[in-house]
Amino acid sequence: MTPLEALKRYFGYDSFRPGQEEIVNAILAGRDALAVMPTGAGKSLCYQVPALLLPGITLVISPLISLMQDQVKALNNAGIRAAFINSSLSEAQIDKALTLAAGGSYKLLYVAPERLESSAFRSFAAAAELSMVTVDEAHCISQWGQDFRPSYLKIAEFISRLPYRPVIGAFTATATEQVKQDIIALLQLNQPFTLTTGFDRPNLYFGVARPRDKERYIEEYILDHRDRSGIVYCATRKSVESVCKELQSVGISATRYHAGLTPEERSKNQEDFVYDRKRVMVATNAFGMGIDKSNVSFVLHYNMPKNLENYYQEAGRAGRDGERAECILLFSLGDVQTAKYFIQNSHDNDELTPEQAEAAARRDRERLDVMVGYCKTTRCLRSYLLDYFGEHHTGGCGNCS
Ligand code: ADP
Ligand code: MG
Repeated sequence: MTPLEALKRYFGYDSFRPGQEEIVNAILAGRDALAVMPTGAGKSLCYQVPALLLPGITLVISPLISLMQDQVKALNNAGIRAAFINSSLSEAQIDKALTLAAGGSYKLLYVAPERLESSAFRSFAAAAELSMVTVDEAHCISQWGQDFRPSYLKIAEFISRLPYRPVIGAFTATATEQVKQDIIALLQLNQPFTLTTGFDRPNLYFGVARPRDKERYIEEYILDHRDRSGIVYCATRKSVESVCKELQSVGISATRYHAGLTPEERSKNQEDFVYDRKRVMVATNAFGMGIDKSNVSFVLHYNMPKNLENYYQEAGRAGRDGERAECILLFSLGDVQTAKYFIQNSHDNDELTPEQAEAAARRDRERLDVMVGYCKTTRCLRSYLLDYFGEHHTGGCGNCS
C-alpha cells in the first residue's frame, strides 16, 4: 500500500494537504521529522498514515486524555487497530491493553507522557516492536512554550533505553524558533526533516473591539449570525457561567465548558456542541485542544488571552472547513489585570525550581505585552500575528479590523 492508498482507504480523503505527504515520506524513509503546522492543518494524519505502513507499533505521546480517546475512537471507526493507556483506565484494563499491544493487536498506542515512567510500561516497551514514537503537541517540552509539561522532558530518556531507536516524529502548532530548537534538542531528534507550513488562514477575519457592554455585544453578534455555530472564550469559570446564562435567557442554544464541571458534564456538553445539538459553546481555555469540528464560524473572546500563541490557537478553531469565519477579541483594560493575576499564580504548582519559576513568569509577562500590543495596534492584525509567528506578511490584508 502507498501512503496515498492508505489515505483513501482508511480515511476516505483523495489527496494530501500541503506538507502532509513530505512528512509521511520522511518518516517512512526512516528520518526523524518535526512538523510545525497550524491547528486544523491535519497533523494527525502525518503520523497515522505512516503508522499503518510501518511494520511495528507507533507509540503516540499526547498530553490530553479526552483527545486520545476521541482519536482512538475515530481510528477504530475507520477500521484501524488502536488503543490508549491513561489514568482513566483501571490497573486491570491497563494490563490487558499492554498484553494485547505486546501481542501485536494495535498499530497505534496512545499514552500520556507520565506513563513512560511506569515500570510495567517500560518492560512492555523493551520487548515490543516500536517502529515510531510520535510526540504530539511537542511544544509542551519547551519552557519557552505556553504549555510546558515537565513530564515531556522524560521522553528522550525513555527512548534511549529502548533496545533499538525508533523513528521519532514531533508535531506542534507553535512556530517560534526557540520552541523549535528546544524540541529538536530535548527530544534528541537526529537531523530531522523539518517542515513549517503556512500559518496564514486567509478565510479568517480578525477583529478587535472595545464595546462598553461585552455581554450585550456577544448577544447581538450571535443573534445576528443565525444558524451559525461558534465558541465564546472567557478567562474565568465565573464569566463562562454568566455569559452562558445570559445567552440562554435570550433564547440562544448555548452550552458551557470549564474545569469546574464534572467530567460527565464536560464530555456531554462537548458532544452537544460538536454534534450541533447546541449552537454556541461558552468556555474557558480548557476547551478545544484537539477538538475537531469543522463548521465553527466564529470565535469570540470575551476576555483577552494571556498570550498570542493561545489566542491564535483558540481563534484558529474557526473556519476549519475553509469557509469564511470571524475571530473577534473583545478587549478591555481589566483583561490585562486578570491576565497578570493568572501569570502570578500560574507557576505555583509546577515542578519548577524558584529560578525556573521566575524565568517562566518573566517570559509570560513578555508574551502578555505582545498580546496587549495586538489589542492596541493600528496595524493590520494579520500581519501582526504572522510577524510574531515568524512569517513575513506584507500587511493590509483587507480582512481584519
Ligand atoms: P491538527 O492536529 O493539525 O490540529 P487534525 O489532525 O485534527 O489537525 O486535522 C484536522 C481536520 O482535518 C480533521 O478533520 C482531519 O480529518 C482533516 N484532514 C486532515 N488531512 C486531511 C486531508 N488530506 N484531506 C481532507 N481532510 C483532512
Ligand atoms: Mg492535533
